[in-house]
Amino acid sequence: MTIEQRLNDIEQIIRINKTAKKVTLIAVSKQQSLNKLTLAYRCGIRHFGENYLQEALEKIEQLKQLNITWHFIGHIQSNKTKTIAENFNWVHTIDRLKIATRLSEQRGDDKPALNCCIQVNLSQEDSKSGVHIDELPTLANAILQLPNLKLRGLMAIPAKTDCPEEQLAQFKLLTQSLTRINQTLPVDLDTISMGMSGDYQRALAAGSTMLRLGTALFGPRA
Ligand SMILES: *Cc1c(COP(=O)(O)O)cnc(C)c1O
Repeated sequence: MTIEQRLNDIEQIIRINKTAKKVTLIAVSKQQSLNKLTLAYRCGIRHFGENYLQEALEKIEQLKQLNITWHFIGHIQSNKTKTIAENFNWVHTIDRLKIATRLSEQRGDDKPALNCCIQVNLSQEDSKSGVHIDELPTLANAILQLPNLKLRGLMAIPAKTDCPEEQLAQFKLLTQSLTRINQTLPVDLDTISMGMSGDYQRALAAGSTMLRLGTALFGPRA
């Protein structure tokens, strides 16, 4: 199948399953060739997500002629925050204040505020990245005070499960967490970043506004 055919299928699934008013598709292009990114761009994709900084910087440089919105969706090491702050439009994986503070300080004042999501650890497993739900309000409130970050919403990668109900419940927990923040803090967050190739139908049913799709769009990674 071509990227165009895969995209048609994905757009149809979005239309049928979405519960949010608007859903943005992020093409997760890690370990995919520049050629494939260009093909996706020609099909109308404007949002691309990358996990690995060095690989991402090369692609951003090569494709700088194109009108692309770049999303950083990988784990953030504190010695990499400056490069991330200077090169991306969005960061989805903030899970501690130290990282958020550095990103805000290192975002140039000449640039618009960096759009960001807080990554939430829905399953409360200590091994996973993401802030625990009970610490989320404090972190969200602190990020709202940072001048060069614009808090947009929440992101999660739910624990793998074979039980569809359990998976749907995890996605719904993220949507409920966003609603609660909007009710308790002076903010109107609009982004729920959830849903990958294997689970995006259920993420849409639970209110996702941003899907992060890699293999469903590009095929297997190199
Ligand atoms: C790799 C990755 C994706 C895309 O995964 P697919 O299963 O290929 O769709 C989405 N989100 C994050 C955080 C990833 O690391």
